[in-house]
Formats: sequence, structure tokens, C-alpha cells
Amino acid sequence: MRGHPGGCSQGRTEGGAQMRYKVGAEQMEQVPSLAHRPDGVFRAARTTPVGPTHAVNAATGTVACGITARGLEVLDQDWEAAFFVERCPRCFAAVVARD
Ligand SMILES: [Zn+2]
Repeated sequence: MRGHPGGCSQGRTEGGAQMRYKVGAEQMEQVPSLAHRPDGVFRAARTTPVGPTHAVNAATGTVACGITARGLEVLDQDWEAAFFVERCPRCFAAVVARD
């Protein structure tokens, strides 16, 4: 036994209060992936946004580009830091303009 299974490693605690916008995905897709670790392989089903994502105001829940947030899958992820997704250009412009 090496180390210990230290809980859920998902919670990298930065952001939090700093997060201004969350990722609002129009569609989600399940991506099964295998994670290789020293202590074995475990299956990690990830859900990934498909298509453009919108900036959902973390405080108010409104969408930066003005569309309705209804039907959006709001992820607990920082939209501004989410480089891995396609971003709605109108949201982008709105967020940048607000700085
Ligand atoms: Zn948008």
C-alpha cells in the first residue's frame, strides 16, 4: 500500500470566490476515459460540453450574451479559464467589455 486514496481529487481549491462566470453548456456529452495511475486503472466517465458554451454569471445566474439560461447545463467551472471549450463569441465580448 503506497500512499492513501485521498478522497476526491477533483476539488482543486482555487477559484471559488473568484469565479465570476460559470460554464453554461448547451449540450453535454459523456466521454468515457481510462485514467492510469500508479495504483491501477480506474474508469472515469467525464462529461464534456459539446459546441459553444456560454458565460453564466456565478452570482446572478444570468447569461452574459443575454440568452435564457434555461436548458443550459451549468457547470461548476470557471468559464474564463475554460480553454478547452468553444466559447460563445457574444459572451466573450460581453465579459471582456465588463472588465
Ligand atoms: Zn453566449
